[in-house]
Amino acid sequence: MEWDSALRDELLHSLHEWGVSPVRNKKHKRFQTEVLRHAEIVTRKRGPVVKFSSLKTNTTFPTDMEEAVEFVLRNIIEEKNLPKAALYERVNNIDGDDFRRPFYQNRKMNKYERKKYYKRFTIEQLDPFKRFAFNKISLSERKFRGWFLSTVDEDAGIIYEARLACHALQYEPCFHCKCRKTLRWNGGVSTSWQDLVCTKCNSMYEVKTRESLDRMHDDFDRNKFYGGSFNAYCKLKNSLEQDQKMFLVVLPRDFNNNRKGEDTHPVFIAEVEHVVPRIVSSNFNPALSTSEFHFASMISVRLPKRKWFDLPKTEKINYVEIMKRLFIEQFSLGEYQRLDAEYFEDESDNEADSELDVANGMKEETDVEKLKSAVENLKVGDADNENWDSMYG
Ligand SMILES: [Zn+2]
Repeated sequence: MEWDSALRDELLHSLHEWGVSPVRNKKHKRFQTEVLRHAEIVTRKRGPVVKFSSLKTNTTFPTDMEEAVEFVLRNIIEEKNLPKAALYERVNNIDGDDFRRPFYQNRKMNKYERKKYYKRFTIEQLDPFKRFAFNKISLSERKFRGWFLSTVDEDAGIIYEARLACHALQYEPCFHCKCRKTLRWNGGVSTSWQDLVCTKCNSMYEVKTRESLDRMHDDFDRNKFYGGSFNAYCKLKNSLEQDQKMFLVVLPRDFNNNRKGEDTHPVFIAEVEHVVPRIVSSNFNPALSTSEFHFASMISVRLPKRKWFDLPKTEKINYVEIMKRLFIEQFSLGEYQRLDAEYFEDESDNEADSELDVANGMKEETDVEKLKSAVENLKVGDADNENWDSMYG
């Protein structure tokens, strides 16, 4: 990765979207300087290379769909080595705030303005250093929040990654070299940007899901995808062999009829072309020094996208039950009950169950409506749904 003016401009843009402006005060100015300095260091870092030889003989990934989901979830719950930033919960300091980036770039006027929703707040209130507070939480609480307070979007990534891997490892050739039985699952918390790898040509595949086919096509048209940790990307990118490929794999969570009349999730693919850093709200945690920052990322791909294969629709998997069992195994029943009482005192579990249907492609009126309104709010440059597990992988 070369640190260049384009990356610098992307970061400055991202800072402006959060309301950081060097002309405002010394604190903002210092923050911007430190962020740019750290990003420059990050882009030069190299990381450990994927051990393709040991993956080649590793065939432990389950061939049963439900077991695959459990395998992937177990990998997450057992990971203890989370970055410091993940062990904080973010709190609103102003009522009605929803953690999003409050400013957008008005290109015509060549300036940054508050989005319509944020005009109700003063610029002072929206100062990111005053707007958020961060409370330290334990590892078990972080994991509990990640699984039981998560949204459909956040769950879907990992559940579909497991489903896609389970199918592709058994039935699909590598997209790049066309070899069969050479794909391996390499996802989880400790690796990002390489959910699947091919042990023949060393290609890497990062899996993303979108709520619908239309939404997925829109993303490809715009050619902007929210990615995981920019730091992890740089480490990996700097360690790649010259001919090694990195692909983005995207599939819709609703199923569609293919030409044979089967219900499937069509899986699309394109080579990763460009990745730029993005600032996230956790970067404003005063307990973290800039050198501990993980930037988020925005991915652009080499178009046109290609169809890779159809992922068959499968039976509903009750993954919330699996999560509950694994959580209790890892921590304890007492810890689960304590956190459950703390977060869900008077609420039933019904909500979690209905989210499950959506993630499994079972359309239910209310959930579809809920998703639609969520989608309405997720315009480009607006989404800030930070999934800590994937973000800090
Ligand atoms: Zn290959």
